[in-house]
Amino acid sequence: MNYHRLWLFLAASLVLLMLCAHTRWTEAGDNIEIWSEDSKGVERIYHCFWLTDAFPLRWSLNEKGVVDSDGKTYIDKNKVWVAINLAFEAWENVECSCLTVTGLDENDAECFTEISDVGLDLVNVITWLDTYDPPTGPTIAKGFNWSYVGPAIVLDGESRKISLNGDTITLSAEIYPDNTILHPGTTIDMDMTFNSSNPDFSYTLKANSDEYQVDIQTVATHEAGHLFGLSHTSMAFTGDDPATMRPHVGYGDVESQVNRRSPGPDEEAALVRWYPVQSDDLEEDTPCSWGSISGRVMHADEEPAGGVRVWAYDAGDTSQPKYETFTLSAWDAEVNSSNEVRREGEYTFSGVEPGQYYVCILPWLNGVPEEFVDDPELYNETTYYGAWYDIETDHADFETEVFDEFLMGSGAPDFDQDESFDLVEVKDGEIASNIDFITNAVD
Ligand SMILES: [Zn+2]
Repeated sequence: MNYHRLWLFLAASLVLLMLCAHTRWTEAGDNIEIWSEDSKGVERIYHCFWLTDAFPLRWSLNEKGVVDSDGKTYIDKNKVWVAINLAFEAWENVECSCLTVTGLDENDAECFTEISDVGLDLVNVITWLDTYDPPTGPTIAKGFNWSYVGPAIVLDGESRKISLNGDTITLSAEIYPDNTILHPGTTIDMDMTFNSSNPDFSYTLKANSDEYQVDIQTVATHEAGHLFGLSHTSMAFTGDDPATMRPHVGYGDVESQVNRRSPGPDEEAALVRWYPVQSDDLEEDTPCSWGSISGRVMHADEEPAGGVRVWAYDAGDTSQPKYETFTLSAWDAEVNSSNEVRREGEYTFSGVEPGQYYVCILPWLNGVPEEFVDDPELYNETTYYGAWYDIETDHADFETEVFDEFLMGSGAPDFDQDESFDLVEVKDGEIASNIDFITNAVD
């Protein structure tokens, strides 16, 4: 089989307002974050989210559509628009999330824009003609979140103006009415740029195709996840069914690409966690309920274990884990911006569908928890420093994320041995807490 694995997607490029040294940070887990001062001048990590008042999010395709390296358009722009719209709708359709995108159709003039570059201009553009920071080499596309960095400010009148590199933009009073608090991490613009010189794009990848083609809808679904705040994931199972936010895809691997056009359960949970449906909007026949699982992982010597991978399996289907998270490192716990005291080794799954779950811990590299499971060389440096860390062999060097190149394998628990997992019941609106683990790490 021609399986040509390449780095096709780039981590969402996190571009900072109010220049913060272009540092990228992440808490162990699953979303895009920034590093910002709080109101007391203390630097912390913040999650990057849209205000729900910004919904529905409007986006426009550059009017040239798919352009090759000679500047020639080779796919009808309306067909491209439809493929990208399906990508946004895949996220919009996640049940129990309030995220929405503008409902236009491909014949509407507002679907297209003359703007060809990504940038902080309050226009959410999708382009093959970017000159600001276009993807090159094997990178297929990039997603940009333009998120506010700085102490929280209350918006009104003049303070609705935000500066970047000498340019000033004015946030709209419609989305950001007076007295809106602009928290660090608030996303205010998103853009997506595709590589015009490398892959052969297809607007509808045909099953059984043996062409080396890249499916626009698949790539756009992945990038749209970044635009809404998701980082990369290491959830990749059973060969042809990786998570949408896994950062590679194989050229010509049609089934795998098609399977990634819809978010997986872990990604849906993330969307529900950050953009939960408002209770007023609940439809009677749509049961939207979720709970949480939390606990702490310690080593046998009673030291907390940071950076440990935690999986939750639906107890009725142990073919692959449903949710993934990581325990907080000491640094994560110290700089987190939540109001709660967080401790090293703690983890939380939220946005979990009620039901029975098997919860287990795994180390970095999908092995069995053992010595040095939170050794910085195996995990933490990757988390903290992303591309700055010299990652050996099979690790990707994407930024702002926890990502394990190894596919599911030896780390999965043996469900015949009940000491390797905890059976947990998750109830609507409740936290199943104190689901604690001890690694068999030794000093
Ligand atoms: Zn990506």
